[in-house]
Amino acid sequence: MRAAVFNGPGSIDVAERPDPSIQQPTDAIVRVVLACVCGSDLWYWRGVSSHAVGSIGHEFIGTVEAVGAEVEGIAVGDLVIAPFIFSDMSCPHCLNGSTLSCLQGGNFGDGEIDGGQGEIVRVPLAGTTLVPVPGAGHSDDMLKSLLTLSDVMATGHHAAVSAGVTSGDTVAVVGDGAVGLSAVLASRRLGAERVIALSRHPERQKLALEFGATELVEERGEAATQAVLELTAGIGADATLECVGTAQSIATAGAIARPGSTIGIVGVPHGQVPFADTFFHNVGWRGGPAPARIYIPDLLVDVLSESINPGRVFDFETDLDHIADAYQAMDERRAIKSLIRVAS
Ligand SMILES: [Zn+2]
Repeated sequence: MRAAVFNGPGSIDVAERPDPSIQQPTDAIVRVVLACVCGSDLWYWRGVSSHAVGSIGHEFIGTVEAVGAEVEGIAVGDLVIAPFIFSDMSCPHCLNGSTLSCLQGGNFGDGEIDGGQGEIVRVPLAGTTLVPVPGAGHSDDMLKSLLTLSDVMATGHHAAVSAGVTSGDTVAVVGDGAVGLSAVLASRRLGAERVIALSRHPERQKLALEFGATELVEERGEAATQAVLELTAGIGADATLECVGTAQSIATAGAIARPGSTIGIVGVPHGQVPFADTFFHNVGWRGGPAPARIYIPDLLVDVLSESINPGRVFDFETDLDHIADAYQAMDERRAIKSLIRVAS
């Protein structure tokens, strides 16, 4: 089969990799339909985070081609959503909501294990990892929204859940990338009355408003803090969602959080989290990598009923042969998020 191969920063090719086959009775083989590029893939592309040479990509939906003898709940022919990690959902960490810490789990596209940016993936622990999608003949727009449940929409939702967003809240979302935009959508879905989106890019502002943002703040740094405080009568946001992970965005989140509130942080921190600054405001930090597998069933209901359409974050698309273009478009900020059509 053909799959994207990460060679090092700025270098991704498409090459032959061995056809995956069932190795454990809990495995399934999935033919990828749609994949995409994650913000974290960009950190590898830019050389900011390290990634092994080899398979890459962890967001995909596809069709089941084979299942091992012990796989339950998944059948050949099913359209399935793969959360960005695989997990058993039964170890002490999964049961406590941290599927990334699963004692048996692991990552797709880590160099060795098949990645989503390829034609076929062997999915370990398939019965507790994959989520089958009911129905058939889904539209292309629907498939794109289903793909977002693999990671980006689940991550935006995790920011909102971690910050405790509830009915009537005023929420501030720091970051207008695909995760930040998904966090806007997730906040409204959880009942937020106002969502202040910190965004200065016209295309992203437009989508933020479409996803339910009620106010936009274009400033950055200290000016952004002042703008949010003015919009909240000097009190700060009831829930603050940090969706970037840079030192500046983390600092801004800390400064606009209402005393006594919680910041939902899902941007991988590439800077110090200023706990000492927020300590005297009784502000908590909570978040981390989303337990997507736990969230998908709920979010799936709303995607299938079209009450949310998170697939709107995809504004660039290509095929597997042009995978490098998908990375470049995001790296150069020409794209919010790149879709890769792997099979039709
Ligand atoms: Zn587990």
